[in-house]
Amino acid sequence: MLPPPETIAALALVAAVAYALFAITGFGAALLVVPALTFVLPLPVVLPVAVLLDVAAALMLGARVGRETCWPELKRMVPLSLAGAVCGVTEADCVSCGACVTACTYGAIELVDTPHGKKARVNPILCKGDGVCNAKCPTRAITLKHFTDEAIYHQIDAALSAP
Ligand code: SF4
Ligand code: SF4
Repeated sequence: MLPPPETIAALALVAAVAYALFAITGFGAALLVVPALTFVLPLPVVLPVAVLLDVAAALMLGARVGRETCWPELKRMVPLSLAGAVCGVTEADCVSCGACVTACTYGAIELVDTPHGKKARVNPILCKGDGVCNAKCPTRAITLKHFTDEAIYHQIDAALSAP
C-alpha cells in the first residue's frame, strides 16, 4: 500500500534537499535519505536504493566536474571504498570518552573491555560510514578508512568554490 500523498511529498522534499547537498559537497545525501525512507520502507530495501541514488548522483556530478578530479586521491580511496565504508579505532589513542558512541545514530559503536581499559569498537555490519563519530572524537582515534584528511579538505574546497 502506498503511503499518503503528504508523506510522499515530504520524502521528495528530503530527497531534493539531500541531493542538492550532494551536488555541493559530493557526499552526505544518504545521511538524510536513509533515515527518511526508513519511515516507509524496510532498511534492507532502503540501503540498496540509497546506494543506487548515490551512484547515479556521483556519475552525474563526475560528468559535470570530472576535469577537476584529484586522481591520486581517487586511486587511494576507491580500493578502500570497495572493501567497505567503515571506521577504524586506534585503540592506543582512544580515551574512552564515549563521544563516538553517543554520536553514532546507527548504534554501531560500543565501548568494550580490553587489556588497556575500555576502548571504542565499531561494528562493521552496522556502520554506514557517515563519519559523524570521526568528527566528534577529541583524540582522532576513530577514522573513516576510505577518506583521508586530504580528501575531506578537497571536498570542502570544492563545496566552498561551488558557483
Ligand atoms: S561512521 Fe557513522 S555509522 Fe559508522 S560508526 Fe561512525 S557514526 Fe556510526
Ligand atoms: S570519541 Fe574517540 S576517544 Fe572517545 S571513545 Fe570514541 S574513539 Fe575513543
